[in-house]
Amino acid sequence: MPASSASPHPPLPTTVLLCGGHGPDGDRLDLRCDPSTGLIVDAAPQLAEQDGDTWVDCSDLVLLPAPVEPHAHLDKALSGDRAPNPKGDLLGAIEAWHAYRGSIDEADFAARAKAAALELVAHGTTTIRSHVDVGPGLGLRGLYAVASVKEELARSGLADLQLVALISCPLTGPEGAENRDLLRQAMAAGADIVGGAPHLDPDPGGATRDLVARAAALATPVDLHVDETLDPTMLALRDYAAALGEYDTIPGAVAGHCVSLGVQTPEVQAEIAAEVAAAGIAVVPLPQTNLYLQSRDHDVSPPRGLTAVAALHAAGVTVAAGADNVRDPFNAVGRSDALETAALMVMAAHLSPAAAWHSVSNAGRTAIGLPPVHLEEGDPAEILAVRGTSLADAIARASDERIVVHRGAVVARTTVATTFAPHPAPAPITAADLVPLP
Ligand SMILES: [Zn+2]
Repeated sequence: MPASSASPHPPLPTTVLLCGGHGPDGDRLDLRCDPSTGLIVDAAPQLAEQDGDTWVDCSDLVLLPAPVEPHAHLDKALSGDRAPNPKGDLLGAIEAWHAYRGSIDEADFAARAKAAALELVAHGTTTIRSHVDVGPGLGLRGLYAVASVKEELARSGLADLQLVALISCPLTGPEGAENRDLLRQAMAAGADIVGGAPHLDPDPGGATRDLVARAAALATPVDLHVDETLDPTMLALRDYAAALGEYDTIPGAVAGHCVSLGVQTPEVQAEIAAEVAAAGIAVVPLPQTNLYLQSRDHDVSPPRGLTAVAALHAAGVTVAAGADNVRDPFNAVGRSDALETAALMVMAAHLSPAAAWHSVSNAGRTAIGLPPVHLEEGDPAEILAVRGTSLADAIARASDERIVVHRGAVVARTTVATTFAPHPAPAPITAADLVPLP
């Protein structure tokens, strides 16, 4: 028997000690993580190194509950150069994407999805909920491709993906038969969540009821694109809340966008926010695409296109925030970084930095069915360490200097080095330089 297999000692436990960083409030915080359980096992201002620790220097970094991405489109990501949207609005994006998507093969879907997912991981987001188009001329090709990326990232321990089958419209009436069948196939093929955009259906209320009924029958979550319009008469959000009220078997309901709620009167906002709270819907504003796609026909004082965040908070609704589209027909820019989303929630939704970070981290975790992370013993070891002295400083800088911990292990690390050109010190002041006072 080889000597190496005859050791009388069990292997030392291997833990990860994040040492010397700041907590979100700026105070010193050390964390010990256990990759075998995926949990934080120790949290204190200063922890002594112990046997089995892998020491990770977090000097000058802020330790934060890791962000999640509650609403991505990995199948569309990084396609903007190939499917330009000169109109710049939502319908222009849909036209450009639908004209292009049928020509994409599975390998191309998978390559872009993986590249976009890895950008998210590098920035600290290791749980990603992605909507994936399912529809005529495309079938389940995109779903199979992103499912292969999900499997690869799970196997490598880099990230967890949740896949929403985003069925095309129409879904109702005789014209919707093909899409209804495709959605059934997508859920049978392994999609985790029922999705759709009922405001694009000729019968938004009917489409909403159909999607909710399917989720109830399958006991899966439902995650809809709702009211992605400034048209105040749309309000499919109200239909969504009413449809959910018919069931008690749906494990998680999410409404993305909810743009038209933002243009209602305060009274209507409060009324609908109460209905949303009672229905248990988590709302996900998506400031990047809301700002990019909405209001293009407003020449004066364009609305921001964000939902009524304050009214939803006041009603007790979980309000998460996501990045949505990245460098595709629906958004020409975006860097797959929750710090970007958080900064937009500060600037465009007027949240405090702490509330903005909550919206991209723990509120997002709640929305997609995960337990929260408070950086305490026993919490999931899902952590982003990023350069800064406090949470607000980290959001403002959005440095790429980061260490990413997923399931207790370091899965990504980015270092940044800045150098300045040499510049001579100023000549010392001498007595000859002094000018006497008058
Ligand atoms: Zn979306």
